[in-house]
Amino acid sequence: MTPAARSYLDHNATSPLRPEARAAMLDVLDAPGNASSVHGEGRAARARLEQARGAVAALFGAPKSGVVFTSGATEANALALTPALEIAGKPVRCDVLLASAVEHPSVMRGHRFPDGAVEWLPVDGEGLLRLGALEDTLARHRAAGRTALVSVMAANNETGVIQPLAEIARIAHANGAVVHCDAVQAAGRIALDMDALGLDMVTLSSHKLGGPQGAGALVVRHPDTRAATPLIGGGGQERSRRGGTENVAAIVGFGAAAARARQGLEPEAARLADLRARFETGLRARFPDAAVAGAGAPRLPNTICAMFGRIRAETLVIALDLSHVSVSAGSACSSGKVAASHVLSAMGIEADLAAGAIRLSLGWSSTERDVDAALDALEKAVPALRARGARAA
Ligand code: PMP
Repeated sequence: MTPAARSYLDHNATSPLRPEARAAMLDVLDAPGNASSVHGEGRAARARLEQARGAVAALFGAPKSGVVFTSGATEANALALTPALEIAGKPVRCDVLLASAVEHPSVMRGHRFPDGAVEWLPVDGEGLLRLGALEDTLARHRAAGRTALVSVMAANNETGVIQPLAEIARIAHANGAVVHCDAVQAAGRIALDMDALGLDMVTLSSHKLGGPQGAGALVVRHPDTRAATPLIGGGGQERSRRGGTENVAAIVGFGAAAARARQGLEPEAARLADLRARFETGLRARFPDAAVAGAGAPRLPNTICAMFGRIRAETLVIALDLSHVSVSAGSACSSGKVAASHVLSAMGIEADLAAGAIRLSLGWSSTERDVDAALDALEKAVPALRARGARAA
């Protein structure tokens, strides 16, 4: 018996490796070479690394020298979120970190900012940053002579809601602030130009766009922007912004995935938007009482946060898994612990609905068959779990 085909709808947790990334990595795995060595092998590794740097920079219209490769987005966020920066070669001291209340946990930690120097900015019911609150908070700090680092994500990992980045950067810069953006979920899915948007630093992760896990980058708009002190010192790698021998194979896979994502960005976004619409139409028809978080805001074409009342998301995820459909409860990073999603609670979503929220995230390997399989599996699981819950109560 052949095993049943699985429908993997968890690209926001990790997207399967793209064939182009796999092929590029296999090439590198068989070639020795430290990118810092001067011999032929070293120079070949360096050339591959620089090609990947160019592909990653191109995703954001950034200069190639603005890309610092890291072990992933968590490290890139940790590198960016520091009070001591250098911008265009000049020291800039940030006294406070202002981040949205729906950021990924790796931003919420605040990293090198002391506890008292981090403030969370509210979002509205759709998950969009309240621009008035940003403006008022920045004005208050400015009046007190404090400089802020503003960190707002491009698109939310749980809901896909896209923030008004150009407006956020405009307000921040008008108040003398520096702007960092965690663009992990948006990169390679929607077009993002750092210059046009006015973003000073951007974080991204290889494995969300079809590259391997364990690679990421902090991209800066002005090449002479950096954390005054690197997180990891050592050799002079990455222009002394991140020590340690580069993970050439992973970075090359990252570059190949970035190039592939950029090349097909618009048609792929349209294809995913069609798949999302197919799912949401089916959802409304089968579950008139279900809701989609952030449905009234601009959203990534690949992400759906579907909320079912009277059900626990963790149990629903297990039931779907048994039907060969892979999704997450809230965000993958927070599943496993039964705490309410901080994103949905910041949006003011009622606790019962938030407790039954699952995230479906599509990507390059997703098809209509996957979407239909998810709808069929939900149709089977949701009434059964609700009935079981009602009997237990
Ligand atoms: N930021 C966001 C918005 C994410 O979704 C994730 C991954 N869940 C990260 C940061 C962390 O990425 P990485 O796994 O590369 O550390």
